[in-house]
Amino acid sequence: MADLSVLSNTLAVLEKYNFNFQKKYGQNFLIDSHILDGIIDGAEITKDDCVLEIGPGIGTMTQRLCERARFVIAVEIDKKLIPILNDTLSEYDNKLIINEDVLKVDINELCEKYNNKKPIKVVANLPYYITTPIIMDLFESKVPLESITVMVQKEVADRMKVGPGTKDYGALSLAVQFYSKPEVILNVSANCFIPRPNVDSAVIKLSLLTEKIPVRDEAFMFSLIRASFNQRRKTLVNGLANAGINGVTKEAVLSALNEMGISETIRGEALTLEQFALLADTIKKHM
Ligand code: SAM
Repeated sequence: MADLSVLSNTLAVLEKYNFNFQKKYGQNFLIDSHILDGIIDGAEITKDDCVLEIGPGIGTMTQRLCERARFVIAVEIDKKLIPILNDTLSEYDNKLIINEDVLKVDINELCEKYNNKKPIKVVANLPYYITTPIIMDLFESKVPLESITVMVQKEVADRMKVGPGTKDYGALSLAVQFYSKPEVILNVSANCFIPRPNVDSAVIKLSLLTEKIPVRDEAFMFSLIRASFNQRRKTLVNGLANAGINGVTKEAVLSALNEMGISETIRGEALTLEQFALLADTIKKHM
């Protein structure tokens, strides 16, 4: 099969199957071989790897992944793309194509079956309408993961990597940095896609941490984080006291801040991840 990163080859496939792009599925296909190589090099794919590709489209990146990896699992929601993928990937026998919403797939079960429960690598040009749910689902479902290397909206990549004191800092930054080390590996122009998206893009690599910051109750910490950023302009004390989190009173938050030596007027956006972890443990003591 011809290299699909060559625009004329992609256009020929789209025409052969009379394919119409579905905006609702965030379909912007890559047509730049340097970017495709950059993603796969950045993900450090080797012949030992089992790779999960989310949203293979017509198989442009999947072709390259099949060349480089031991096994590729490609999950595509759009059933119209399945006959196309069966055609464009017909020469590879180290792949599994699944027609499903990735959020409904049991990735743990796939890992067990195709990678002996060893960590997999996720590589994707993600559909932008569900970037955050997909990444959070991967982290929270405790799938054995080595890394997640994905194309996202540039603005979302910025939010993932920043720390306190910046306008982009928020619940996504803290969740990503709790589970992984984020690193932007490429900035990508809108001209590298067909159709051209209205936003700039970036490839970010999230390398999973082997040692996370210690916190007694992760879910409780994340409920504090979400509540602090839901009411960004309020002080942390008022934001948390009004959030309706079971057992979290204004007094408990004040006592915890005093014990930690942090000002009572601080806002959530000024706290580091380590401070949120300590705050969660300290508030629990005062509840
Ligand atoms: N990987 C291809 C490429 O780079 O050319 C296509 C990338 S396109 C940005 C996103 C792909 O994800 C589309 O093929 C779309 O149909 C698919 N997709 C959208 N939502 C999905 C979901 N919930 N589960 C699986 N695939 C999805």
